[in-house]
Amino acid sequence: MTDTREARTGKAAAADRAAAGAQTPQRLRRAVFIDRDGVLNEERGYVCAIDDFRLLPGAVEGLRRLRAAGFALVGLTNQAGIAHGYYTEEQFARLTAHMNELLRENGVALDGFFFCPHHPAGSVARFRLRCDCRKPAPGMVLQAARELSLDLARSVLVGDKISDTDAGRAAGVGRTILVRSGHTLPDDAACQADDICADLLEAAHIICEGS
Ligand SMILES: [Mg+2]
Ligand SMILES: [Zn+2]
Repeated sequence: MTDTREARTGKAAAADRAAAGAQTPQRLRRAVFIDRDGVLNEERGYVCAIDDFRLLPGAVEGLRRLRAAGFALVGLTNQAGIAHGYYTEEQFARLTAHMNELLRENGVALDGFFFCPHHPAGSVARFRLRCDCRKPAPGMVLQAARELSLDLARSVLVGDKISDTDAGRAAGVGRTILVRSGHTLPDDAACQADDICADLLEAAHIICEGS
C-alpha cells in the first residue's frame, strides 16, 4: 500500500511539474529593456523639453525588429532631474506622451515605460532618497518583470552607461548590451556588458540573430 501511494504521489508531483514547465514559457514573455537617453533619443543631459527630444537614427527600426521577433519592449529611465528640481513630474509626463506619440506615428509602441524620479542629493524633499529603483539598482527591471510577466533570464537590456548594464545584471537579465550612440563608453566597457554595438538597430540585429 505504501509503495502504491508513494508512486501515485510521485506521479502527481511529476504531472504538476510538467504542467508548470509547459505553462511557464507561454506565460512569461521575453523583453528588451531599453534605456531612453542615448539609446532611443539623443543624449543631451536632462532632456525635458519636447524640442530637445530627437529620436536617434535606427531607433524606430530597431524597435520594429525586436517587436516583430516577439519581444516586449520596456523603457527604463533615471530621471534625477525631477529630484533636482530641473523639471516636474508633469513636464516629464508631457515629454513621455510626446515620445509615445512619435513612436506611434512610426508604427511602434513600448509595452511599458518606467522611471525613477529620485536622487539622494535632490533638492525636492519628497524625491530626495536612496531608492531601489535608480539604476544601477535593479528596482525598475524587477517591477517591470512583475507587472508585465517577463522572463528575465531570457531577456536583454540595452543601455549606454555601466549603470544600465549593472541594473540588468543585478536583476538577473540574461544578456546586456552597451551602445555607442550615447555617453562615451569607458575603456573597460567590454567587461561590463555581453556585447557592444553602435546603436539600437545593430543591437536589434544581434538580438534577433541569436533568438
Ligand atoms: Mg542613457
Ligand atoms: Zn528611484
